[in-house]
Amino acid sequence: MRKNLLLQDYIEGFKNKDRTILARAITLVESSHPSHQMLAQELLKAVLPWSGKSKRIGISGTPGVGKSTFIEAFGKMLTSKDKTVAVLAVDPTSQVSGGSILGDKTRMNELAIDPHAFIRPSPSGETLGGVAKRTRESMLLCEAFGFDYVLVETVGVGQSETAVAQMVDLFVMLLQPGSGDDLQGIKRGILELVDIVVVTKDDGDQKLIIQKAKHDYEHALHILRHEGWIPPVLSCSALTKHGLPEVISTIDSYFENQKDLIANKRDKQSLDWLWQLIHEGLKDTFRESLGDKEIRSIEKSVFEKEMTSPEAASYLLNKFFKK
Ligand code: GDP
Repeated sequence: MRKNLLLQDYIEGFKNKDRTILARAITLVESSHPSHQMLAQELLKAVLPWSGKSKRIGISGTPGVGKSTFIEAFGKMLTSKDKTVAVLAVDPTSQVSGGSILGDKTRMNELAIDPHAFIRPSPSGETLGGVAKRTRESMLLCEAFGFDYVLVETVGVGQSETAVAQMVDLFVMLLQPGSGDDLQGIKRGILELVDIVVVTKDDGDQKLIIQKAKHDYEHALHILRHEGWIPPVLSCSALTKHGLPEVISTIDSYFENQKDLIANKRDKQSLDWLWQLIHEGLKDTFRESLGDKEIRSIEKSVFEKEMTSPEAASYLLNKFFKK
């Protein structure tokens, strides 16, 4: 059996750049066991002053768009320049299917054995909120550990893009026109979140389709985002590496020239996170205090139209405050 680590062991491990300790620290924040949670919070607090220096990049796209191939190529280019890269995943499909789109296949083989890289698959079997919370905490651990880049990958389904966009400095959307990613197929909300659009697989006989799609995305983004940073639309091939240096230099220039924008984003994200935690904490306390039975019976009254939602809410709130 593995020895239980104490707070000091984790801190020493971080100082000594011990990857095994980082992996165990992430397991600790992923655990829902109360004693693990308590230690995890102490650890996060202890390492917090070392965090904040990494470049946080979210990468999203539908299954098959080329996320893992892109991240591998992107990550290898970074590590070849002596940068260190951590890759985390938020995979909402793992809650629905039990298996996960991101975790099932062997992915990023080269990056996985690169000593400058660290890859952590998605925690599964949780709500999106739970996965997002743990990913955010894992991100802080990776930052405190000293990674230059933390890449957070997510499958572009449901609300996961929003959750990831709320924790990164730069949100990259990968799109593959001709496979459902035409302008009409893209949710408007995505275009509001995105900082850079990258069209993938620019190496085959789809040149014309890709050119037209890039033009359409650019046009839509100019209409929607006319102030501040207007997301550039690029294309590349993760296989031939064509266009990849331009993607990297655009990302570099964003971090170089948009420092105020990033600082504002981080401030807003910290406040959003604070309120999200308060909201969740209050909801949990509320549920615990009133009990499932009481809450279900009131929910039933709302379903059966015996009570309106405002009536039910004020009844439950009154009861909660009188306890
Ligand atoms: P993910 O599901 O978004 O992670 O997508 P993958 O990275 O697994 O890629 C899905 C498929 O597209 C695989 O068969 C890849 O080999 C292929 N693919 C990925 N990137 C490229 C590329 O740049 N060019 C071409 N031609 N194929 C690619």
